[in-house]
Amino acid sequence: MREKSDALFKRAVQYIPGGVNSPVRAGKAVGVDPLFISRAEGCYLWDADGNRYIDYVCSWGPMILGHGHPDVIKALQERISLGTSYGAPTELEVEMAEIIIDMVPSIEMVRMVNSGTEATMSAIRLARGFTGRDKIIKFDGCYHGHADSLLVSAGSGIATLGIPGSPGIPKDLAKHTISLPYNNLSATTETFEKFEKNIAAVIVEPVAGNMGLVLSDRNFLLGLRKITKEMGALLIFDEVITGFRVGPGGAQEFYGIMPDLTCLGKIIGGGLPVGAYGGRRDIMERMAPSGDIYQAGTLSGNPLAMAAGLATLKILKNREIYNNLEEKGRALFSGLEIAARSAGQDITVNRIGSMGTIFFTKDPVKDYESAKKSDTIKYAKFYRAMLQNGIYLAPSAFETAFVSIAHDKEGIQKTVECAVEGMKVI
Ligand code: PMP
Repeated sequence: MREKSDALFKRAVQYIPGGVNSPVRAGKAVGVDPLFISRAEGCYLWDADGNRYIDYVCSWGPMILGHGHPDVIKALQERISLGTSYGAPTELEVEMAEIIIDMVPSIEMVRMVNSGTEATMSAIRLARGFTGRDKIIKFDGCYHGHADSLLVSAGSGIATLGIPGSPGIPKDLAKHTISLPYNNLSATTETFEKFEKNIAAVIVEPVAGNMGLVLSDRNFLLGLRKITKEMGALLIFDEVITGFRVGPGGAQEFYGIMPDLTCLGKIIGGGLPVGAYGGRRDIMERMAPSGDIYQAGTLSGNPLAMAAGLATLKILKNREIYNNLEEKGRALFSGLEIAARSAGQDITVNRIGSMGTIFFTKDPVKDYESAKKSDTIKYAKFYRAMLQNGIYLAPSAFETAFVSIAHDKEGIQKTVECAVEGMKVI
């Protein structure tokens, strides 16, 4: 029964492009109109018709503590009666900066913004301003938000919709973005040889989460670190997904590699709209008003967002949580793998801790080319079967599933049982 969701979608498409405020939500790739959600608690979502789902989207990553964690709710309740926005500095922002700098190894100074897109866009401007160069290198299938310079051969919705990029981006700007195959160091080295000292920055998801989950080779990241240093370019890690997800210090701590700048988002807002970029002090001090490179925000450092984010990060300082998340991630993905194999499906599972993807291909997935081999029709069938049984997955084969601390053994067990059936239906 989904009459209310369907009725809401009919209303929505009249007034909102495609009926949604972010494209992948529309469910086009899996042939299902979106569910309209009325509430969430722990690992569950309820739609407008009152159906309950186990949620593996987790708001696309932020809800690592599950929905409505008591500490986050309490922090928000305490803050809300004190006013919702001042447009002036608060103690919360200082605390937020301190906790981020304490937890993320390479960050010495940080600036809060309102989304991951703003974080990457600002980091790119800073890198260009700092180096006095225009060109940037990114990698195919990595998504860094929808800013003009970064929407080239991108993952996420661009991958889901199977489109090369977007109209509306001036060619004169796009020509400064060079997109190369992920995990391919020689392509990067050759590009540096060709453009020599014209490259301002290399931006990379140190674990890619927007072409499905693809792990990077440590040697690839080490190579990027070495060549950027040699050539005077900056290395930017986009940890909007991986920050506080793969460990308290993000992917940079996991791999033991220090970027010059880091972009954050999702988890640092505890479910409210937040982004941040930070890094080396000498670079960050170039931002206005201490420096000459401009970036600003009416709602940046918003007290409610800071309160929710801080409550979340304080919990995540306890490393034990990541052992718990690892166990849950392992239980879910090994269960899904067994379910697929028992149904004779050829799949590849990529996972790190509490995030992962099942690709419907037997070949290893290590870049965008190999990710695209995943059978999207099979994924759509699997998605629909799971949804029917109360399991809410991302409506695209090129996204990542997330587990939170609120997912329990019973829920994961139920998910695996549903997958056994779902894999047969395919
Ligand atoms: N970078 C990465 C790695 C992301 O996954 C995303 C969003 N999925 C972004 C940047 C953009 O963040 P936002 O949607 O908050 O603008």
